[in-house]
Amino acid sequence: MNIALIAHDRKKDSLVNFVTAYRHIFAKANLFTTGTTGLRIQEATGLGVHRFQSGPLGGDQQIGAKIADNQMDLVIFFRDPLMAQPHEPDIIALLRLCDVHQIPVATNMGTAEILVRALERGDFGWRETKQS
Ligand code: PGA
Repeated sequence: MNIALIAHDRKKDSLVNFVTAYRHIFAKANLFTTGTTGLRIQEATGLGVHRFQSGPLGGDQQIGAKIADNQMDLVIFFRDPLMAQPHEPDIIALLRLCDVHQIPVATNMGTAEILVRALERGDFGWRETKQS
């Protein structure tokens, strides 16, 4: 199970708290993050993560490439809806690729809660079927 974790600056605390709360689930997955988000998660939880570039430097596109290769099963991306981002086109491209490849994506904590609980329950079995 490959999970992408990304948070904009003012959402990083929320994502760190979320990953801490569900650490037992995330510990069983392979985690991929943008640069700064990954650093914060590593420091707070001790979980191993694969860190790509920082988002504004191309990290969102690197995660998008994994989605295009069908190597990402879930994307949790806590966006900041109240602040313009310099790399907005990259963010839109990442979300578009989730739609192209039918990848579950949460852009806020409410949806993330539901998806992570579904993951814990075993509802992501269809992803394994798709990959084989
Ligand atoms: P960051 O990138 O984790 O390096 O801050 C996230 C983003 O802004 O897309």
